[in-house]
Amino acid sequence: MSALLEVRDLKVRYGGNLALSVGALSLGHGEIIGVVGGNGAGKSTLVNAVAGWSRGAPRVEGSVQLGGRDISALPTHRRVREGLLLVPEGKLIFGTMTVEENLAEGIDDPGEGRKPYSVEEIYALFPRLAERRGHLGSQLSGGERQMLGIGRALRLAPRALLLDEPSIGLAPKLVRTVLQSVSDLRAHGLSVLLVEQNVKAAIEVVDRVLLLERGQVVLEGTAAEMRNNPRIAEAYLGAQ
Ligand code: ATP
Repeated sequence: MSALLEVRDLKVRYGGNLALSVGALSLGHGEIIGVVGGNGAGKSTLVNAVAGWSRGAPRVEGSVQLGGRDISALPTHRRVREGLLLVPEGKLIFGTMTVEENLAEGIDDPGEGRKPYSVEEIYALFPRLAERRGHLGSQLSGGERQMLGIGRALRLAPRALLLDEPSIGLAPKLVRTVLQSVSDLRAHGLSVLLVEQNVKAAIEVVDRVLLLERGQVVLEGTAAEMRNNPRIAEAYLGAQ
């Protein structure tokens, strides 16, 4: 089966500096790929470029295809309409609106058999948000914000989600909760590119892992292969 998201020869420069160079990346239907690596490895640069974000005025070369359609020239909002949704580190929520109001905006008719999640489906995925439905965005904890950010994206009927460090700043128990919910999205046929510094937790929920170093993919494999890879184990999993 052909991949849902195909990235080819992606190069991203800030000023004259080459921050990212990825030859090929394919994300299958219903697949979750973990993008891991240290600080400054290029993880955010990758998902931002795939989403067409222009923050930091990067110069981007290469092609991005979604469902066989070349979307490389489309601005971010048009990629959103095509079903490619970036959830940056929990920031795209409205602090002055309640959880329920934050989730109110959906997409009416995305076409192509796509269906937005209903608010109730999002509450089923994240019961904590249901409990907090009357609270303002600004009153939420870090974990609740991450859940709400993902919930808002699900209201727009994504085909692929790009999640930038959904577990950042969360207590270990919440990390597992949030990442387990991400894993549950697979059952709905959603594809996810999951940026994570928390390799140990990520490896438990993803299908494949890409390790980025200095803007390049230096290792790639299934979660099982990567778990047993000494390079990953030494660098990220601690002494086992
Ligand atoms: P972190 O986990 O620390 O966010 P990361 O893996 O997401 O790291 P990026 O933020 O993608 O890494 O950064 C990759 C490289 O690009 C780094 O060398 C960084 O300094 C550089 N970079 C990122 N954004 C910009 C920008 N707006 N202007 C200039 N350089 C940038």
